[in-house]
Amino acid sequence: MVAIGDLMPPATHMTWDVNHAARTITVTVRLALWKANGGMPTDAERKYVEAYAGGFWGPPLKFACYDVLVVVDCRSISKKSDARADEVDVQVDWPGPCEVKVFEPAGGSVLGDSPNDRLHPKGARFNPTEPLAWSHELGHILGLDDGYVPGQKEPYPGHPKDLMWEFDLPVSAETVARMIRRNGMVDESKMQCALSFDATPASLWLFIAEVKDLSIHAWTCRWEAVSSNPEAAAAPLSFEGVLSLEAGYLNGDHNAPARALLEAALGLNTAPLSDLYGIGYPVTFTVGRALEGTLSIRAGSGLVLEGEYQWNAQTGFPTMKGPLRVNGISTASFIPGPAMQGVFTEGATECTR
Ligand SMILES: [Zn+2]
Repeated sequence: MVAIGDLMPPATHMTWDVNHAARTITVTVRLALWKANGGMPTDAERKYVEAYAGGFWGPPLKFACYDVLVVVDCRSISKKSDARADEVDVQVDWPGPCEVKVFEPAGGSVLGDSPNDRLHPKGARFNPTEPLAWSHELGHILGLDDGYVPGQKEPYPGHPKDLMWEFDLPVSAETVARMIRRNGMVDESKMQCALSFDATPASLWLFIAEVKDLSIHAWTCRWEAVSSNPEAAAAPLSFEGVLSLEAGYLNGDHNAPARALLEAALGLNTAPLSDLYGIGYPVTFTVGRALEGTLSIRAGSGLVLEGEYQWNAQTGFPTMKGPLRVNGISTASFIPGPAMQGVFTEGATECTR
């Protein structure tokens, strides 16, 4: 056992290869497979364990703009004691539920993302007739906690609903980030990632008034991965950009009602009319690094665009959950529309590497 105050054993069962030029992070996990009931695991059994361990970790995952590749490297041994110090031994003819025995760090936090929060495996058991939990178990071998509370329906408070909560769910962006940060092998200060945000043009007719091509283009040159650690308030991503729109046909006293309607609907100050014809407001806004949140963009005199987002493990950046709202009104209700959709994309021409 590791007593309180002892250092955790080094994670020699993992090898990390971080390639900043290629933007890849590859972690190789070594498992030594053995059978309690005699004989060495066959090649087919070895591949079977590799496939289920890879499972949800297999599709390309992202940590900001870097690809995260989890490679499971299994070797067959004839008895448990043949496992090397840089391997985790796995009994592959275990009849009970799959499990990983772990050392838990003293003072570690379930949501913590520092190396002091990493779990350390000291052996595992694989049931070949119930292999589906094995991606979850690999999460423990990678240093992650369970996301559930025994006997409770909801996850541990703050933990995403992903495979560390229920074994048949995919890996969340937050869990990818926590896994990487707990291992402490990726120097994030050397990562250069840029992210763009674009909101597609929407148009709104208000009687004879017209707002056309309401759109946003913005970017950040410092795209950092989502953070799971509530105690270390991660700095949000800071975007800068431009909100553009055209509001024409508004001159003259006869258009005063239309201007009033526009002010009411969009919160725009229509008094400086010349400013309202084909304009770009500079905008700055932030995107939080909690797994989910609300994006809020303020522009000009009282125009507020909002929408909910969730970070995505396959892209490494947030995905908007639905159309944006303009001053609380869903752009899905705009006539003629279309609704205004916000989209994040990797890279930004405004940022140089
Ligand atoms: Zn578990």
